[in-house]
Amino acid sequence: MIGCDCAVCRSEDPRDKRTRPSIYLELDDGGRVLVDTTPDLRFQALRHDIRRVDAILFTHAHADHVMGLDEVRRFNMLTRQPVPVYADRRTLAALRRIFAYVFDSDAPKGGGVPDLRLWTIGGPFMIGRQEIVPVPIRHGNWHILGFRVGTFAYLTDCNGIPEASRPLLDGLECLVLDALRRRPHPTHFTLDQAVAAARKIGARRTLFTHIAHELGHEASCAGLPDGMALAYDALTIEMAG
Ligand SMILES: [Zn+2]
Ligand SMILES: [Zn+2]
Ligand SMILES: [Zn+2]
Repeated sequence: MIGCDCAVCRSEDPRDKRTRPSIYLELDDGGRVLVDTTPDLRFQALRHDIRRVDAILFTHAHADHVMGLDEVRRFNMLTRQPVPVYADRRTLAALRRIFAYVFDSDAPKGGGVPDLRLWTIGGPFMIGRQEIVPVPIRHGNWHILGFRVGTFAYLTDCNGIPEASRPLLDGLECLVLDALRRRPHPTHFTLDQAVAAARKIGARRTLFTHIAHELGHEASCAGLPDGMALAYDALTIEMAG
């Protein structure tokens, strides 16, 4: 956090150096899917040598999840392809508003703008041969989207899981779930709430994300039940099938 001298912000542990939340999926058929475009996307893509994005899924339109969208024009240049973008109606409306210069045909384009194709998510859909299942979750008074891909699910920015979404989370090998901090927050699970939700969902392994600087990696992980841990930047998970 800018201007903070707390133990986590001063930590030498690389797992305590956190950029904004996003994941990159490499599908079995070769498709490369980015979930959210954070303000740190440029740095993240350089650090992990990401050269291709075949599709983008958006969870919701808060700044920490969308503000890197302009960087996508570099992927357009590299692949010479437009990038399909999948999001719910509210998120697409926000993207059109926030990035008006991209979608307004009259705006001067300068060095180029991202070439995007917007698709409204209305239920499960396919990217190549992979089914993507949207999972509605509560984020304050919004319902936003998590995503299930095979036996993996990504639920960031969450402080409640509606009953109707429960069956969508059966039989998970790996769940990534929001756990902001220990103190209560109006739009995010606390670590205790996240552990309780993770127990109900019962994935074989749960990784917590969207972590604030109150939670140091090592000390927080030490207090978690078996099969649960904090995620960290650059963590890679391989899923079978
Ligand atoms: Zn701090
Ligand atoms: Zn949010
Ligand atoms: Zn967020």
